[in-house]
Amino acid sequence: MTMLDGNALAGDLREVFATDVTAALFTCRGCGHAAAVATLHMWGPAPGRVARCPQCEDVVLRLVHTGDRIVLDLRGAVRLEIPLD
Ligand SMILES: [Zn+2]
Repeated sequence: MTMLDGNALAGDLREVFATDVTAALFTCRGCGHAAAVATLHMWGPAPGRVARCPQCEDVVLRLVHTGDRIVLDLRGAVRLEIPLD
């Protein structure tokens, strides 16, 4: 096995972020509930979007537009399963 730097992930991550992630399955860190991202309960948009688990209401995802970038915090999800077209 060879260690490479994060640049080796460019192709795979481009594929992940070019898809409709609302169809992806998240697994909640708080309760283990697994369902489509589209089922999250979302608040926002200002100052950022906060999406909570429909089962336990823990925060699963935060997304903030800062003007020149998007900050995505997924610490409330232990897994994100993204179907490929
Ligand atoms: Zn939950």
